[in-house]
Amino acid sequence: MARVKNWQLGREMSYWYPEARPQRQFAAVFDINKCIACQTCTLACKTTWTSGRGQEYMLWNNVESKPYGFYPLGWDVRLLELLGAQDWKDGRYEGRTLFESAAAGERVLGWRPEEIDYANPNVGEDDCAVGVAKGAHMTLPHMSWFFYLARMCNHCTYPACLASCPRGSIYKRPEDGIVLVDQGRCRGYQECVKGCPYKKVFFNPVTKTSEKCIACYPKQEQGLAPQCFVNCIGKIRMSGHLSRPDAVRADNPIDWLVHVKKVALPLFPQFGLEPNVYYIPPVNVPLPFLRQVFGPGVDAAVQAYRHAAEDPDLSGLLALLGSTELIVPRFQRRGETMVGLGENGLELVRVPTREQVHVREYANASRNVIQTNVP
Ligand code: SF4
Ligand code: SF4
Repeated sequence: MARVKNWQLGREMSYWYPEARPQRQFAAVFDINKCIACQTCTLACKTTWTSGRGQEYMLWNNVESKPYGFYPLGWDVRLLELLGAQDWKDGRYEGRTLFESAAAGERVLGWRPEEIDYANPNVGEDDCAVGVAKGAHMTLPHMSWFFYLARMCNHCTYPACLASCPRGSIYKRPEDGIVLVDQGRCRGYQECVKGCPYKKVFFNPVTKTSEKCIACYPKQEQGLAPQCFVNCIGKIRMSGHLSRPDAVRADNPIDWLVHVKKVALPLFPQFGLEPNVYYIPPVNVPLPFLRQVFGPGVDAAVQAYRHAAEDPDLSGLLALLGSTELIVPRFQRRGETMVGLGENGLELVRVPTREQVHVREYANASRNVIQTNVP
């Protein structure tokens, strides 16, 4: 085992290979306060990449209602139970990661789902925590809550799928950190399916190989965002590249949201994989639940998001999410306008930092019509 630096844990940890960060890392920010669970992202991916034989059950992208939705069934709670209670102290992870908890002879603490666990990807949809008694009416503030968690492969810095593979079939591209399965080398042992804590590698029983999200790399190589990003109805997503932790750029939108403002957080950082999909946490969910899912940065992130209207850089970047199909590597705020720039400084897109509000008049005298039903 090598010792590697995991900035999300605030400490070094053990991993099966030495630290080898890519030149730049594919990364994403999801504002899950805006997700409406329309599943357009899921279908955009499905129709692009997984409509073949043996792929019927596969959802490289899925959206589940938390706390009771899962795909596959119980993917997170089953692993949390295996890992046991662990602690953070002052932003540093004091517990054991999945690599450090592996049993003798194993590389990662994991489990392999049964076929039936994938059968109901929408089980738990819209079920809320803290049930509502029959006949009760809703009053605000209320304690019932749920939120939608859109998920894809995290193209982890320390992938458990890669560490688990006895054939060395999984690799991380040095140019952008995208994690891929070499279909020619894979022999279908499914150790990656067992090892990935997010359950984002899938076995194809027809080809007898494992398959996973490829982050639409053919699109990215042309400067375009992946399918699940450009089709997102809620405009919750932004793709880009995260710089190395020691070379953060304040004009890179992903770096700014993750490292500077710290409003976007990794999913289950305690697993130790340094996942690269970052979530702006849902602000109406109890903090103890959010701390378990997104780590100790949640309190500050929720506060920052609640005050976004007072921070034009943050509100401007939030408005930039989903505003173009182009990958936007740089940004610059010019007064009330947020401008997305290319690497060469050329303008790619511009949006107002505040959403425009137009109030329609009740009556339009020139046309002699009533325009709204509220006088
Ligand atoms: S999310 Fe899973 S499949 Fe994706 S890189 Fe990480 S360990 Fe591998
Ligand atoms: S398309 Fe966007 S809004 Fe719709 S479910 Fe997917 S992430 Fe959520």
